[in-house]
Amino acid sequence: MHNNLNITFIGLGNMGAPMALNLLKAGMSVCVFDLVPHAVANLVEQGASKADNALTAVKGADLVISMLPAGKHVEALYLGNENQGGLISVLDKQTLVIDCSTIDSATAQKVGKTLATKNIHFIDAPVSGGVGGATAGTLTFIVGGEKSDYEAALPVLQKMGKNIFHAGPLGAGQVAKICNNMLLSVLMLGTSEALQLAIDNGLDPKVVSDIMLQSSGRNWTLELYNPCPNVLPNVPSSKGYQGGFMTDLMKKDLGLAMDTAVKSQSSTPMGSLAQSLYAMHSLQGNGQLDFSSIFSMFSKHSTKS
Ligand code: NAD
Repeated sequence: MHNNLNITFIGLGNMGAPMALNLLKAGMSVCVFDLVPHAVANLVEQGASKADNALTAVKGADLVISMLPAGKHVEALYLGNENQGGLISVLDKQTLVIDCSTIDSATAQKVGKTLATKNIHFIDAPVSGGVGGATAGTLTFIVGGEKSDYEAALPVLQKMGKNIFHAGPLGAGQVAKICNNMLLSVLMLGTSEALQLAIDNGLDPKVVSDIMLQSSGRNWTLELYNPCPNVLPNVPSSKGYQGGFMTDLMKKDLGLAMDTAVKSQSSTPMGSLAQSLYAMHSLQGNGQLDFSSIFSMFSKHSTKS
């Protein structure tokens, strides 16, 4: 891939906006599109160009990146549905498509294989690292697809991330990603209940977090995404659980993990419990809050008693 690429970035939410911004900061030419006009306007202020819809946004693009909520959005964008035409009808041959959304691997494979019939290259490249990693340009990318497409994508992914893995063939990035997120949900729940147990027994959550960080309970949620308000600055728990990674997106990822486990006949009791707890948390009206707000499931219970 040459350096003066025309990049189109579609999906400028919590993750997509800071990712696209890092491409602009690296001096790349980026055309953006999102269904939400103010998300587009923010990026245009930072130097991006814009288009009225996805079909015109990809005109002349060498590389297309998408960062959408779920599989149905990705399939509709590229392959079309009853309401809209897909990008497959307008993308140039040899365009490289990088879908960074977390979706089911079956949809990633379907989209990739269908685009390949038109000589359009596709990799699934879900990310880990949250909004903090997206902003700092330190995301982990987990790529599924042809090795040559992974190598072609590397120079661009390196502008948005630090660790970039080739997990295997088409769809493999998605499988690795949902294994990671299933583990993350279990760690978030375990960290929440341990911190609340400490609080209920009169301990300061900051002190007990410092202790566990130097002990065997150390983990990513405790260290970088502490769910208890005001233990860490600048994390969603200290900002009313706004921004970050929505409960409903974690619920979606746990559904994907459970579907995958059913297909491979794997035993995932911890993931299954996490899925039920996140579904309940969402039903209780917390779907739009960051996933660390599951902490309140334990703290609200304890304040009632
Ligand atoms: P988000 O809901 O904040 O953003 C999604 C954006 O996509 C929105 O701005 C929405 O308007 C836009 N969109 C939806 N359909 C569209 C379409 N057809 N055309 C153009 N734009 C469209 O979600 P997010 O937190 O940015 O997450 C995006 C993806 O990344 C999800 O798959 C999520 O699971 C994954 N992810 C999120 C995080 C995180 O910490 N937020 C971390 C890793 C992975």
